[in-house]
Amino acid sequence: MQVLIPADRIHARVSEMATEIAHAYEGKAVTVVGVLTGCLIFTADLIRRIDLPLRVAFVTASSYRGPTTVPGLLEIRDDLLPDVAGKHVLLLDDILDTGKTLTRVVAHLIDRGAASVKVGVLLRKIGRQEVPFEPDFVGFTIPDKFVVGYGLDFNDEYRHLPYIGVFSAGE
Ligand code: 5GP
Repeated sequence: MQVLIPADRIHARVSEMATEIAHAYEGKAVTVVGVLTGCLIFTADLIRRIDLPLRVAFVTASSYRGPTTVPGLLEIRDDLLPDVAGKHVLLLDDILDTGKTLTRVVAHLIDRGAASVKVGVLLRKIGRQEVPFEPDFVGFTIPDKFVVGYGLDFNDEYRHLPYIGVFSAGE
């Protein structure tokens, strides 16, 4: 495994993002909604540094199985989501790849009556986006490589790695 972004750089950037987010909301209460499971570690680290009245909830959006996506198959589950009507929602995900997942989840939250939806991603891959979509907060821009660690998996493994890594040739 080759380290693409070491743990200390992730921590420093996540702290900066928390400050950016607190400024953007100007003291307003925020409902953080994470897209499971990849958002897990990013969300846990980020929310502990956000100085705002805050609640946190999760949805699942599943389409990704291994290193290839299955087009058209995206199921959003929000059974655990509290009422977001009239709330300012900050949607968090691990990575913006084609943009399809976040576009769909944003539409879903607006449908549920959210007063506003801003989006934060830890990673944004260059050259992969298929739908026009601009996240409000981005941790790092990365090349078009399959990454794991800090929440991101390959077949449900590697999420616990404290860094973002890429497989070395032959791994
Ligand atoms: P999108 O809908 O933007 O194409 O896909 C976003 C989802 O695809 C992410 O939340 C993540 O689960 C998965 N994904 C995209 N690129 C990668 C990657 O490089 N590594 C891993 N582990 N998952 C990825």
